[in-house]
Amino acid sequence: MRVVDLIRRKRDSAELTPEEIQQLIAAYTRGDVPDYQMSAWLMAVVVRGMTRTEIAALTEAMLRSGRVLDLSYLAGRKVDKHSTGGVGDKTSLILAPIAAAGGLKVPMISGRGLGHTGGTLDKLESIPGFNVNLTLTDFQAVLQTCGCGLIGQTAEIAPADKKIYALRDVTGTVESPALICASIMSKKLAEGIDALVLDVKIGSGAFMKKTEDAVNLAELLVETGKRMGKKVSALLTDMNQPLGRTAGNAMEVAESIEVLAGGGPADLRELCLELAAWMFYLGERVKTLDEGKKLSADLIASGHAREKFREIVGLQGGDVGVVDDPGRLPHARHALDVTSAANGYVASVECEHLGTACVVLGGGRERKEDKIDPAVGLEFHKRIGDTVERGEPLCTLHYNSEARLAEARRLVETAYRVDPQKPRTIPPLIHRMIGAES
Ligand code: URA
Repeated sequence: MRVVDLIRRKRDSAELTPEEIQQLIAAYTRGDVPDYQMSAWLMAVVVRGMTRTEIAALTEAMLRSGRVLDLSYLAGRKVDKHSTGGVGDKTSLILAPIAAAGGLKVPMISGRGLGHTGGTLDKLESIPGFNVNLTLTDFQAVLQTCGCGLIGQTAEIAPADKKIYALRDVTGTVESPALICASIMSKKLAEGIDALVLDVKIGSGAFMKKTEDAVNLAELLVETGKRMGKKVSALLTDMNQPLGRTAGNAMEVAESIEVLAGGGPADLRELCLELAAWMFYLGERVKTLDEGKKLSADLIASGHAREKFREIVGLQGGDVGVVDDPGRLPHARHALDVTSAANGYVASVECEHLGTACVVLGGGRERKEDKIDPAVGLEFHKRIGDTVERGEPLCTLHYNSEARLAEARRLVETAYRVDPQKPRTIPPLIHRMIGAES
């Protein structure tokens, strides 16, 4: 195999064979293909796309780059949830403890921030001491003890995704249904789960901005999971504005703890109840989605979900004190309000700009080796359809360094459109469902 030939053929829209894809992924995982060649190939995939056969081969090759967990020794259904990525999307931190408190087993292998979107691992690492790099033996022990564990891709589990994900993050090669499908499904199928709930984001802050692209991605993900014998459903949910009130690693952990304690913003809470209901339904813990929602709300109200979160944090080496006192999480030294220039209504939000502003403040990476500042982030005060007065804050920037503050501020200023008329439609939180089993 000559890697340059695979790059040129993909550049020219040729279909690669499963063997060629398998060899390329195996060689890159071993370290035999340099990042610059892999980046060029990834960009060719973004531009030219892949056939269904190529996507299946890529998913399979990335899955087989490591081990597939056998969790048959654990009693109960193994169910997970994964999102295609958004701004302020912190649902994994809330869903994992709810589902585990309700009796499911949740072996969650997650990712870091990708492009302008945040990542579960970076959020969890803002909890002092929290270890997302458990050995497989320790991960399995945590799962056995509390029914849930959250780790990243490892040298043993989905190592190809670990390397390719980090490269895509900084080379503009995220927005490809083929690459997103292979990335998500290789991690999720390696977990040894029975069922998977997918949260496919649509809108200005999602990788898929148009409904048809999000539907196509959702169908691809569901089809891939079903082919591998898993129960899979996908919810298409809104990302035309941030989810909840914050974006930024430690700030999102604090907001998740609020939801687990029975509070938090309505949109975040509602989406979590819906996704948790689907996890319980696919995991055969309940017979209907309504029953699943009620169970999830009860697990929050009784404090069981919050206790489960505390247990997970403790077992993975984190400071459990943050559960009662989120003030122990890192926080930024400075805050700056971005205010409205006019009276009116928030008509639309360019949500990707908000995610990029968070990255620019240091909450995400622009190069593979960048270190994240867990404390920085954005706090949102207005949602689409809200009234706003001139001079009223739309968003607060929490920052530690002035180096790129002006750039972040400009991104936020240009993200909000304020109109004199109330917008005729407000985007729904949930657009539709694909692959429903009911
Ligand atoms: N989440 C993933 O795990 N991978 C992607 O490519 C996008 C979102």
